[in-house]
Amino acid sequence: MSRFLSGLYASLKEYVPGEQPQDKKYVKLNTNESPFPPSPGVVAAVTDEEVRKLCLYSDPESKLLKAKLAENYLLESENVFVANGSDDILNFAFMAFARENGAAFPDISYGFYPVFADLYNIDAKIIPLEEDFSIDYKKYLSCGKMVVIANPNAPTGKVLPKNEIEEIIRTNSDNVVLIDEAYVDFGAESCVDLVEKYDNLLVVQTFSKSRSMAGARLGFAFASKEIIKDLEKIKYSTNPYNLNRLTQLMGVKALEEQEYYDNNCKVIAANREFTVAELEKIGFSVIPSKANFIFAKHEKLSGEKIYQKLKDNGVLIRHFTSERIKDHNRITIGTKEQMQVLINKLIEIIGEEEK
Ligand code: PMP
Repeated sequence: MSRFLSGLYASLKEYVPGEQPQDKKYVKLNTNESPFPPSPGVVAAVTDEEVRKLCLYSDPESKLLKAKLAENYLLESENVFVANGSDDILNFAFMAFARENGAAFPDISYGFYPVFADLYNIDAKIIPLEEDFSIDYKKYLSCGKMVVIANPNAPTGKVLPKNEIEEIIRTNSDNVVLIDEAYVDFGAESCVDLVEKYDNLLVVQTFSKSRSMAGARLGFAFASKEIIKDLEKIKYSTNPYNLNRLTQLMGVKALEEQEYYDNNCKVIAANREFTVAELEKIGFSVIPSKANFIFAKHEKLSGEKIYQKLKDNGVLIRHFTSERIKDHNRITIGTKEQMQVLINKLIEIIGEEEK
């Protein structure tokens, strides 16, 4: 820390992203990326001509992209917000909607929520998950704060039924309810269609997972026109050109090729069920997941040991150190071949330990 950093940030604990090693080729199952490349139209969109246009600023209103999102999700452009990854949107939402009343979110969820709360000195009500890692929606009713829930939740992959989410939205009408649907396309039910019914609902999604564009940084959100205007105000007060030209272009193309992505999601869901069945055969218990990852614990080996041994064997998964989940690991679902490598390595590792 330099002597120039504001004292406000002295105790801030920044978010630590999953490892992105550049040195060795790992089977990379640690940051919930898609194993598939973007659709052909997205790849073809980045022409020399488009690259040459980078001398011009991007459209700060992202008009084409918003129009296409509105069309695909049956809303109006004024109900759509786009930004540099959904992290950008979460940041804006905490900044805009939680500084007065605070925010409520689960103890085990996306690790960025407490960081944003800390960054803006927000009063955070952290609500423990139940014993089985489920969310008891009753604990979020009329809670007087912005509510933030990832559905499916991360890192558990568990879903909250839509009628329970709707109760949370209905009983918190004086605060924003943010539903983070980063993983919704892998089998959960979306709340996007509730946006027309509730002016306090903010649904956040991303191109990083189901649409194979984590490296392009593109997040989007749906909400009432008023909420979208608030988010725009924050965006225009920080970085109006937060989406570059190529990302906007690729986003539009991806939305024109939805079938390709829907098919990939089906393949991932099938690979997930295959992986769960195989892991259960070798002593893992796995939480039922509707996401592109699973959260698994072995009956004998510690989470740390499994993570480390797999890493030594060229397979990266995500290990968390916090007490409640240190014996679980989060494993991204990749191709069938990648999952087979994981399973084979695990069989070897467990066999060696049992010798
Ligand atoms: N929400 C959740 C629950 C996530 O796991 C992630 C991925 N780390 C994000 C949001 C952010 O994704 P991105 O910024 O790539 O859109």
